[in-house]
Amino acid sequence: ALTAGIVGLPNVGKSTLFNAITKAGAESANYPFCTIDPNVGIVEVPDERLNKLTELVQPKKTVPTAFEFTDIAGIVKGASKGEGLGNKFLSHIRQVDAICHVVRCFADGNITHVSGKVDPIDDITTINLELVLADLESVEKRIGRVEKLAKQKDKDAVAEYEVLVKLKEAFEADKPARSVEFTEEQAKLVKGLHLLTSKPVLYVANVGEDEVADPTNNEYVQKVREFAKEENAEVIVICAKIEEEIAELEDDEKAMFLAELGIKESGLDQLIKAAYSLLGLATYFTAGVQEVRAWTFKKGMKAPQCAGIIHSDFEKGFIRAETVSYDDLMAAGSMTAAKEAGRVRLEGKEYLVQDGDIMHFRFNV
Ligand code: GDP
Repeated sequence: ALTAGIVGLPNVGKSTLFNAITKAGAESANYPFCTIDPNVGIVEVPDERLNKLTELVQPKKTVPTAFEFTDIAGIVKGASKGEGLGNKFLSHIRQVDAICHVVRCFADGNITHVSGKVDPIDDITTINLELVLADLESVEKRIGRVEKLAKQKDKDAVAEYEVLVKLKEAFEADKPARSVEFTEEQAKLVKGLHLLTSKPVLYVANVGEDEVADPTNNEYVQKVREFAKEENAEVIVICAKIEEEIAELEDDEKAMFLAELGIKESGLDQLIKAAYSLLGLATYFTAGVQEVRAWTFKKGMKAPQCAGIIHSDFEKGFIRAETVSYDDLMAAGSMTAAKEAGRVRLEGKEYLVQDGDIMHFRFNV
C-alpha cells in the first residue's frame, strides 16, 4: 500500500500528531493485509458517501478503506552528510510515497524550538535543503556513470545526461526535483532515479489550541501558505494536541466537540483526505446486503486491476463489471431503480474505474 511519511524538525508536534493517528486507528481486524510496524499508523479514510450507501443498502457491516501514515523520526541538520541519524532518516524517506511535512506554527514559550525561534519557513528550508543535498549527491554519482557514454553519443545516455544536468542545476539552486519541468519521456527517467525531492509534499501547519478554528491571524500559517503556493503544495492547518484528544472520542462525541471548537472537520480527517489525493488515490465501492465497503485504487487503474484489489482471483478470472456511479445511484434512489433507468452499465477489461463507482465484478473461478 502507498504510504505518506510524517516528517518535521524536532519539537514541532510530529509525535503528538502520530499519536492522534494511532489512537484514531482503524479496526485492524478489517485490514489483515496492512503493515504491522510500530512506525506505521493505519487510519480509516473518512467518506460521507460510504455513510449514505450504508443508509441506502442497510448492510450487516460497513467497512471504510484504510490509509497508512509512517512516522519518520530523526531529521537533523547535516542529515545528508550522514550526521546523527541522518542516513537512517533519508532511507526512511526513500521508502515513503509522499511527504507530510509538519511545521511548528504555535508560539508556546514553554516548548523549546531547536533553532531558538519559531520560523516555519526556516524550518521548511532546513529539511528541504538536506533532501536536496542528498539528491544532488545521487545525481552527481549518476552523472559520473553516464557522462562518458553521453560524450560518445550513446542515445540513451545523452537523454539521461540531459535530465541529470537539469536536475543538478535545480539542486544547486536549492530547488526540489518536483519543481523542474520535464517532458513525459524525461519524467520516466526521473522516476527511475528515486529521488527524495520528487516525492509529492503537503505541509501541516501545527497551530495553538485557540487558533485552530480561525488561523487567519496566525502569521506563521500565512507564511507557510505563501511558501506552499509557489510549490503548488497544499497546507492543512491542525492543532496536534487537540487531534490527540479528538482521536479518543466516539463519533457523536467527536461531532459535538468539533462544533464546540467551531470546526467542520477534524484536522486529521482533512489530512487523511489530502494525503490520499496527493498520492493519486481514489475510492470505489462494493455494496451488498452483507457488506458495504470502500476500496482504494490508484487513478488510472482499469476494472480487472481494481477487481484484483479485492482478490487476485477476481482479476485472473475477470469477465466484466456491473457499474453505476455514486451520483447516479443516489439520484435513482435504489439499485433496482438505477437499473430501470439504464444507469447500471456493463463494463469490460478496458474500463477506467472512476472515483465513486459502485462495482459488481463478474468473474470465472
Ligand atoms: P516532535 O519532536 O516533533 O515529535 O514533537 P512533539 O509531538 O513531541 O511535541 C513537542 C512539544 O510540543 C510537546 O510538549 C507537545 O505537547 C507540544 N505540542 C505539540 N503540538 C502542540 C500544539 O498543537 N499546541 C501546543 N501548545 N503544544 C503542542
